[in-house]
Amino acid sequence: MDISRTSDVWWKNAVFYCLDVETFRDGNGDGVGDFLGLSQEVDYLAGLGVTCIWLMPFYPSPNRDDGYDITDYYSVDPLLGTLGDFVEFVRIARDRGIRVIADLVVNHTSKEHPWFKSARSDRNSPYRDWYIWSDEIPESGPDDLVFPDKEKSNWEWDEEAGQYFLHRFYKHQPDLNITNPKVREEIRRIVGFWLEIGLAGFRVDAVPFLLETAGITGSMEIAPHDWLRDLRSFLGRRRGDAVLMGEVNLEYEEVRRFFGDESGDELHMCLNFNLNQALALALVREDAGALVHSLRAMPSLPADAAWANFVRNHDEWSLDKLTEAERQEVFRALGPREEMQLFGRGLRRRLPTMLDGDQARIRMVYSLIFALPGAPVLFYGEEIGMAENLDIPGRMSVRAPMQWSDGPSAGFSSAQPEKICRPIVEGKRWGPAAVNVAAQQRERDSLLNWMEQLIRKRREMPEIVFGSWSLVAVPEPSILALRYDWGSRSALVIHNLGEKPATTSFKLRPQDRPEATADILGHGKFSVGKDGTMTVELERYGYRWFRLAA
Ligand code: MG
Repeated sequence: MDISRTSDVWWKNAVFYCLDVETFRDGNGDGVGDFLGLSQEVDYLAGLGVTCIWLMPFYPSPNRDDGYDITDYYSVDPLLGTLGDFVEFVRIARDRGIRVIADLVVNHTSKEHPWFKSARSDRNSPYRDWYIWSDEIPESGPDDLVFPDKEKSNWEWDEEAGQYFLHRFYKHQPDLNITNPKVREEIRRIVGFWLEIGLAGFRVDAVPFLLETAGITGSMEIAPHDWLRDLRSFLGRRRGDAVLMGEVNLEYEEVRRFFGDESGDELHMCLNFNLNQALALALVREDAGALVHSLRAMPSLPADAAWANFVRNHDEWSLDKLTEAERQEVFRALGPREEMQLFGRGLRRRLPTMLDGDQARIRMVYSLIFALPGAPVLFYGEEIGMAENLDIPGRMSVRAPMQWSDGPSAGFSSAQPEKICRPIVEGKRWGPAAVNVAAQQRERDSLLNWMEQLIRKRREMPEIVFGSWSLVAVPEPSILALRYDWGSRSALVIHNLGEKPATTSFKLRPQDRPEATADILGHGKFSVGKDGTMTVELERYGYRWFRLAA
C-alpha cells in the first residue's frame, strides 16, 4: 500500500458530481441558472464532500440539444455568465478543495457554428473539409441511429451546400471530420484552452462516435486510437494530473480498448454502463446474480485507470445491453407506463420515484454504487432524492431545476415563475415542499445528511479503488459481498438487495484478525467465530461496510 500514490491519481478516489449550470442555481434573477449562482453553492457541494464537479456543456449554443450543440468552443453561453465568472467559479472551487471537469463535445458541432456556416456556403471554404460531405448517401457507412424516434438517416441533404452531410446525432449536429488534421489540431487547442484557465480534465462525450471513421471517404494518416493516445499525452503535458473520463457505452471488451494498452495510455476512466445496466436488473429481481455476472465479465484495467460508477445520469437509464425480455422485466417494475420509457431502450425517471420513495432501498443502492470497484458519480439532486418531471420532453425529464427550498420556484431563482428556464418538479410528494435542500440540512436522518456520511466513509476507504477486489461467496441470492485488499488494508462491503432481512455467514481469510474488525457503515449485529467464520445480519435492503485488519 502506498498512500502517496493516491494524490497523483486523485480521480480514482474522487467523488464526482455532475450538474448543468443552467438548472443548478440562478444568481442574477433572470430565471436561468448561471456561474454566479453556482459559485454561491460551492460551499454546499464542499459540505456534501464532493471532490470534483463535472459541468455539462456551458458553451454558447442554440440549445436545441441542451448545450450539446456548440457554436463556440472558447466561450461561455452569455445566459450562464462570462468567461470571467467561469474563472472565478473554478478558483472558488479550488479553494474549497474541489476540482472541475467539463464535457468535451467534439464529435459534432451545432449547425449554427461559424465553421459549418462557412463550410456549407462554399465548396472552397477552408472549413468545407471540417465536416463530412457526400453527393449521394453512401452504401457503406454508419447505419445505427442515436435518436431513432427523431431521425431516419445519418445523412442530411443540405440545399446550400448541394451535398449530404453526416450526422450521428440530431440533424442539426453535423459530425466533425477527424480525418482532417486541422480538426484534430483544433480539438487539441480546445483542450489546451480550458486546461489553461483551470479545468482539471474532461468528460469526453460520445467517444466511440468521435473515433468512428465509417462514412468518411478521406483516409486518416493516424489510427483513431493512436490519435486518442496523442490527445491523452498532450493533456498530460499541459496538466500532469488532468483526467479524461469517457462516455463509452459499448460491451466490456470494446470499452477496454479505450483505456489503451497495458500502460493505460488512452482514457483514464470510463463510465461503467455495463455495471449500471446490470444494477437495474439486479434491483428489479432483488437478486445479486446480474451484478456478480457483470463483475466477473469486467475486464481488468491498467494500473492507473478506473471505472466511474453511477446510478442515474443526465440521459435516460439506457438498458440497451439487456435482452429484450430483461428490458421488459425492468420496464414493468420501474417504469410500466409508456411515458416513462424512451426509445424503447431506457427509462426517463430518477431513482426515488422508480423505487416509490423507499428510503431503505434508495440508500442501499447508493451505498452499493459507492462500494463497487471505481469512483462514484452523482447527478445533481440525487443527494436529496429529487424526482423527474415527465412533463419535460424526452431525456430532459431528469434535468429539472435543483430544489433548494420550499420557497417560490424551489429557491432556484428569484425570477417570476413564467421566466424559469425549465419546469420545476410539481406535486405534494416530489415537489419542492416535500423535497428540498434546506429542509434536509435541518433534518438529522435526511437523505442529504446520510449521503454526506456515505461520501465521508467512501473517501476514508481508498481500498475500494486502489485495492484488488474479489467476490465473497455467500449462499443467499439477494446478497452481494465484496472484499478489497490493498497492502495491509482490507475491507468488506455487503449489500442485501432483497426486501427481507437476511443473515449471512462466510469464512474470513487466515491472515485476517477477527478482533480488529471495524464496523464502518450500516446497522445490525455481526460476529466472528474462533474458526474465522463471520456472520452478518442485514436489514431489509441493508448495507454493511467493514474494515478488516490483516
Ligand atoms: Mg441567471
